[in-house]
Amino acid sequence: MQSAPEPRSDLIGAALSGVCMVHCVSTPGLLMVAPAAASVLGGFHPLLLVGVTAVAGWSFVPGFRRHRDWSVVGLASLGLVLLGVAAFVFEESALETLLSVCGAGSMMLAHLRNRTLSRFTSTLPAAS
Ligand SMILES: [Zn+2]
Repeated sequence: MQSAPEPRSDLIGAALSGVCMVHCVSTPGLLMVAPAAASVLGGFHPLLLVGVTAVAGWSFVPGFRRHRDWSVVGLASLGLVLLGVAAFVFEESALETLLSVCGAGSMMLAHLRNRTLSRFTSTLPAAS
């Protein structure tokens, strides 16, 4: 059986989104016990956004070429916009956390859907 190309990029992308969700949920509690951690945790989202965008390009461009499913593109675009707005417009506010969790969730869904569709279409003969 032929294995799907780029099998790991979606898992890495989904894991990155998971890291952001854990980060967002745990940051308020962490800051209560260790306020000094604010400088480290505060700069996390712009950094994460770079990683998430890179992995998104790595997964979704070849993925879309195979499955041509716009819902993956839609979810990924929504996720990137939410993460970007959270990191650069609403930085250091409660809205940053809310938008980041939604954005990360959207990216995670996009990666899981991309992975499922890519696996399915990779078992079909190439349409060219
Ligand atoms: Zn986060």
